[in-house]
Amino acid sequence: MTRLIFLGAPGAGKGTQAEILAAHLSVPHISTGEILRSAIAQQTPLGIKAKSYVDNGDLVPDELILDLIKDRLSQNDAQKGWILDGFPRNVPQAEYLSTLLTELDQDCTAVINLEVPDSTLIERLLGRGRKDDNEETIANRLDVYRQKTAPLIDFYQNTGLLKTVNGDRTLEEISTELQTIVKS
Ligand code: AMP
Repeated sequence: MTRLIFLGAPGAGKGTQAEILAAHLSVPHISTGEILRSAIAQQTPLGIKAKSYVDNGDLVPDELILDLIKDRLSQNDAQKGWILDGFPRNVPQAEYLSTLLTELDQDCTAVINLEVPDSTLIERLLGRGRKDDNEETIANRLDVYRQKTAPLIDFYQNTGLLKTVNGDRTLEEISTELQTIVKS
């Protein structure tokens, strides 16, 4: 059973690699960013509340995300494993997740930290063309990452689950290494 958390700055390639690996393992790829973008497009109550945060590159308040993750990990397809992409995003979310996994009797297999230099991140984000991929929002998202999300590297280092992967290579090189990590 594979249950993985992907960490990494915006533009590190989490979404792409998580999707490839999830297809390879036949487990759901759970991206909180995708869930929020789809809620915004459909103007659901969650989407309406989340929109301004996502547009500005700020984190959506935890109370909008925590129940959503609990529901998602409780669904049938998540009982055969999962890959989390974009959650947790700060220490309180990581603490919540660890309690939730105990409650659901699920263990996280590994935490993958995709490491990419800032210059590559910015180049990739500017080339992507998502609505929140303009220069100003990108700068804020990198700031938010450094302040709120990067501390999770230490958080998971302390659990012994962290694996750091060089994300500044070709898509194929990275996905091959990830498949090797998952097999071991
Ligand atoms: P992503 O697709 O992971 O880059 O997420 C896009 C945006 O969705 C982020 O900039 C945040 O505004 C929001 N978001 C995604 N995941 C979370 C989360 N776990 N907690 C708070 N906000 C999130």
